[in-house]
Amino acid sequence: MTINVRQFGGLSRDPVLPITEIEHSAFCKSESDLPAKPLLDEIKVNVRWQKIPVKYLHLTAEELDVRIHEAREKLGNRVVILGHHYQREEVIHYADFQGDSFLLSRQAANQTEAEHIIFCGVHFMAETARILCSPQQRVILPNMAAGCSMADMAPTGDAMDAWDDLEALLGKGGVVPITYMNSTAEIKALCGRNGGIVCTSSNAVRVFQWAFERGERVLFLPDQHLGRNTALKLGIDLDEMIVWSPFKALGGHTPERVRSSKVILWQGHCSVHTRFTVRQIKAARERYPGINVIVHPECTMETVQAADVSGSTEVIRKAVNESPPGSKWAIGTEISLVNRLAKSNPDKVVFCLDPIVCPCSTMYRIHPAYLSWVLDALAAGELVNEIRVEDETMGHARTALERMLLVG
Ligand code: SF4
Repeated sequence: MTINVRQFGGLSRDPVLPITEIEHSAFCKSESDLPAKPLLDEIKVNVRWQKIPVKYLHLTAEELDVRIHEAREKLGNRVVILGHHYQREEVIHYADFQGDSFLLSRQAANQTEAEHIIFCGVHFMAETARILCSPQQRVILPNMAAGCSMADMAPTGDAMDAWDDLEALLGKGGVVPITYMNSTAEIKALCGRNGGIVCTSSNAVRVFQWAFERGERVLFLPDQHLGRNTALKLGIDLDEMIVWSPFKALGGHTPERVRSSKVILWQGHCSVHTRFTVRQIKAARERYPGINVIVHPECTMETVQAADVSGSTEVIRKAVNESPPGSKWAIGTEISLVNRLAKSNPDKVVFCLDPIVCPCSTMYRIHPAYLSWVLDALAAGELVNEIRVEDETMGHARTALERMLLVG
């Protein structure tokens, strides 16, 4: 049968870089420390910030610390704060629970007492907390501009077009959709609605196995690198994988190529983890012979293969924290976590593979001024920056997340 690719996804369109990707470079610095400045100084970096009452703009980290403690005293256990490991120092120490997105999604589901969950992380994480916690609880993201460039690379419309094309070509059940946690609620719902599932970097291998028990092919969104690195771990060949470009008809492939694939990787990436290179690994090994190199699986395949170990944020933390004194570690993940590991392991050599300090720009938008603002508002009986997810989306997204939690 001849298939006209124009019937799939319409015309090709021009690539659009997510704004968060373009802004990312604004935060890269050459000094190794990133102390929080008053918000007014930080917003001079030309990126999007959410508007906030003027009084918070001038407060120092010390002044904000006093306010945050006062507000927390008033609120007591009505509020719980969850903090992702990539949060800056001046924010993470207020977190009642710290973790990667997998641990925090479990924590969100376990928080049955607190009326309000303040999520110090990025938008998709707060959405996940909203989906997993109980309906009467409220989830707050301190700064609504804290998005994720990777999640932005899989807009709902593009993913739906791709799904329609794949179903038209392969038939129902011809592909099992898996989305990385780092995606919007709509993309999670697309997976839930179509027999698919969510994964994190902690459980990606188990989730792929789950999917291959249910179908012969997977669509993995939005991070091509985590998808490729996971498929390789399962022994799938590179020539059984294709990268789906949302800007090209049928993802840029012939129908035959799509049919012959086992893993369809969405063309997305993390702007933080793709900075780590094989050259940096070589430089670290030359400087410290015998050094352990550990990187996150959102890094490119070449970088992951040149490292000694790859693993989720929790795997990286555990490896460094549990290594004997005198161990040496070159790490390929977000700088706030690497700096924290270096400080808490003073008897070891711990440094970031990338000599240019590039925090995740969107994680960095959770300045303590925003945390202070949302807490003050709650203490005054006002709810700001509540995360809401539409009911139908929430139901399907929860299905996909619950499948993941069952896989473990
Ligand atoms: S580190 Fe990468 S994937 Fe994680 S929130 Fe930042 S941009 Fe998104």
